[in-house]
Amino acid sequence: MNGLSKNPYFGKRVAVLGMGRSGLAAARLLKKYGADVTVCDSMNSAVLTQRAGKLCEEGLRVLTGPAADKDPSGYELAILSPGIEESTALVRNIILKGVPLIGELELAYSLCKCPVIAITGSNGKTTTTELTTLMMRQAGLIVSSCGNIGIPMSEVLLSDEFRDALVVEVSSFQLETIKTFRPKVAAWLNLSPNHLDRYRSLKEYRYAKLRIFENQSEKDTAILPHGEEFPGLKARRITFSTTDLSADLTMLGNSILHQGEAILDLGETKLNGTHNAANLMAAFGSVFAVAGRIPVTGPDIKNYHPPAHRCELIAEFSGVRWINDSKATNLDAMVQAIRSVKGPLVLIAGGKDKGFGFSPVAALVRERVDFAILIGEMRHRIASEWSGIPISTVESLEEAVMLASQHTVSKPQCTVLLSPGTSSFDMFSDYIERGERFRKLVQKHLKEAGMNGQGSLPETKSASNK
Ligand code: ADP
Repeated sequence: MNGLSKNPYFGKRVAVLGMGRSGLAAARLLKKYGADVTVCDSMNSAVLTQRAGKLCEEGLRVLTGPAADKDPSGYELAILSPGIEESTALVRNIILKGVPLIGELELAYSLCKCPVIAITGSNGKTTTTELTTLMMRQAGLIVSSCGNIGIPMSEVLLSDEFRDALVVEVSSFQLETIKTFRPKVAAWLNLSPNHLDRYRSLKEYRYAKLRIFENQSEKDTAILPHGEEFPGLKARRITFSTTDLSADLTMLGNSILHQGEAILDLGETKLNGTHNAANLMAAFGSVFAVAGRIPVTGPDIKNYHPPAHRCELIAEFSGVRWINDSKATNLDAMVQAIRSVKGPLVLIAGGKDKGFGFSPVAALVRERVDFAILIGEMRHRIASEWSGIPISTVESLEEAVMLASQHTVSKPQCTVLLSPGTSSFDMFSDYIERGERFRKLVQKHLKEAGMNGQGSLPETKSASNK
């Protein structure tokens, strides 16, 4: 018997539900720990067949298509991948038979040997996860980032590399299926209406997210927006605010302060908008909780840009700036993007109906936006909710870019901002496809407009794999 046999999964019959990246990583991790693993996916496709073949070669059992939904009584545990809804037949069968069900995050956590820093919020998770990771490294710690950011936690744990901590981006979906998940530091960035096509109310969505604090004790730390109520929280609190000087981390002019002491001048960074100041504060708070000090900010942080599709400057031509914020899939992200722009603004917004209207931002749009171009399934509804400003509804992103370019002719200092405020699935496979399409259309337009050294197309980072 080796050390591995002492783990709770050794010899256990476990079903892994879903053959996406998280499912594959969970299955391999379980195999490493000696479990008897069956990977189940109700879909059938060429990609899945290829993945199934690979898993079989590695000695794992795989069931796809209708076979995956067969009687699950033989399993002692099931692992749910974040993308699979509990309403599917595959999951319902498992629940009906009383097979214990946990998520991939819980599985990975139960096998993780280092402290976890978990980051959640409606917006800013990926940016803050990346900033926290950079700052932790600056503090001399060995860390990796994972989770919702695109690398499943189980995948990171497949290697036995030593780490001081893992920085894990966690979504409300992943938190729904935790049991013992107890981050040493849990950062709560913000909450705004989102995923209301999955949750019945904002309260239910908030409840799912609050589970991040559920198993924390006085020995752990919660990083929180100053002034928000978190009843029943046991962890030590570190608060942040971009407006209230009584928070632990706050802002005075362009400076970020920690306990009254200036730690970073925002002007020295490449980050725009108060939302990114909040992300920086949450990252500083997380590092302080682990390292006991704020590390000196080096070039990695000062030169950091959020990943592609997040308020990303993709072109500047004849004084007109084109910004791709395709990742703004809810209203709060759109609000932050609008607020971070100075001067005349053409906004391209709209997309899939996710269960919320756009009237809460009508006043801001009236105040800040000169011309709104609306696309997607929600375009007519948004137009009716945004009376009082010049609006056009169009059929495609191509038309939107054409119209925006006509509108900005001889209007230097103008910004064209794609910040949809909702998801892309009505017209695109995801926000990355939407953002890349926007980039290509803008580049094509600028080429046709004869951009010859009068403008620039900044080099962009590759799209996040999230
Ligand atoms: P997430 O991982 O939570 O989706 P990202 O860092 O990928 O967050 O950013 C997603 C969108 O939210 C982008 O449009 C970005 O500009 C915006 N955003 C980033 N941080 C914040 C914040 N703290 N508050 C509101 N919006 C934010």
